[in-house]
Amino acid sequence: MALPLPLPNVSSLPSYVPGARAAASGTVPIKLSSNENPLPPLPSVSLAIAAAGASVHRYPDMYAADLVNALARRRGLPAENVIVGAGSVAVLAHLLQAYAGPGREVVYAWRSFEAYPILTALTGATPVTVPLTSGGRHDLNAMAAMISERTAAVMVCSPNNPTGLAVTADEFAAFMDRVPSDVLVVLDEAYVEFVADPAIVNGNDYIGADAWQTHPNVVVLRTMSKAYGLAGLRVGFAYGLAAILAPVRACVTPFSVSSIAQAAALASLEAETELLERVEGIVAERDRVRAALAADGWSIPDPQGNFVWIAAGERTAELVAHLGAQSPAILVRPFTDEGVRMTIGVPEHNDAALVALAQLGWRV
Ligand SMILES: *Cc1c(COP(=O)(O)O)cnc(C)c1O
Repeated sequence: MALPLPLPNVSSLPSYVPGARAAASGTVPIKLSSNENPLPPLPSVSLAIAAAGASVHRYPDMYAADLVNALARRRGLPAENVIVGAGSVAVLAHLLQAYAGPGREVVYAWRSFEAYPILTALTGATPVTVPLTSGGRHDLNAMAAMISERTAAVMVCSPNNPTGLAVTADEFAAFMDRVPSDVLVVLDEAYVEFVADPAIVNGNDYIGADAWQTHPNVVVLRTMSKAYGLAGLRVGFAYGLAAILAPVRACVTPFSVSSIAQAAALASLEAETELLERVEGIVAERDRVRAALAADGWSIPDPQGNFVWIAAGERTAELVAHLGAQSPAILVRPFTDEGVRMTIGVPEHNDAALVALAQLGWRV
């Protein structure tokens, strides 16, 4: 019997590979595989989550008005310049749904965030991938050169997942000068709060009426999943010109940001100072981990997110197996024959990883 036929662009999709998780039983592993914040919610955020739980028989505010207003206010913008979604991956999906599609192209660097090929293919658009430089950086000149009249959107991931390297402000400015104003540029800054190098681009400089006069086509994508520690609740957002965001809003699944997620996001914005102090601690750990690995002879590209990239190449599987064989097991995110992305955890977990990596005695 013939079955309903999925669209070819859907049936040929690669599936998203999530970071490894703990098995149902046995010792709890050290999970450094998903770039999560290793610290649990602040008490004030947990309380807001619990309080919101008492009214889940009601639908959430479809427009997440309080959250949108809070996000807009902190940048001095009206609400029309903000969109929220169930994770920034969802916001990106809606952006691409509104602007990409069959006959249009989407340009992005590769290797980069693995949601990009999936979300692009889902729209029916053609992906145009531009290899990272041999050092693992975005090649923005090459990306600008790939823009044609078919290009709907360009994704720039800074800091880049999984290599950790970020785009400088100068590089991004030069790039923007080459991109036509009718091509959407999505600056994906999922890790911006962890950036320590002042030379790195900050999307805040591309937000607001003045900035949009020069470059109306930039949308800055942010998330509450990493620095704000709400990965399990799914809240992402973006800043952009109202005329660009209005059609995106039409693509959003109604009520997709739950009432609990909205409450937790609001409570997190209120506790921002405290949360960003914790981010400083993670950044200090990142620098400690990188320095320790460098002292052991590993060559780690300048990490600007909450993770480090170990370019193990064809020894990737061996490295992952070695970490997995520790007790407790250390889970990281492998990229076959390319390398390993290891999230910065709490100090004792990072120490366990450093000890295990030192046992290998490799120089990569
Ligand atoms: C983690 C990550 C996101 C955030 O995803 P959410 O859907 O907000 O959890 C977005 N972009 C990149 C590059 C990421 O690594």
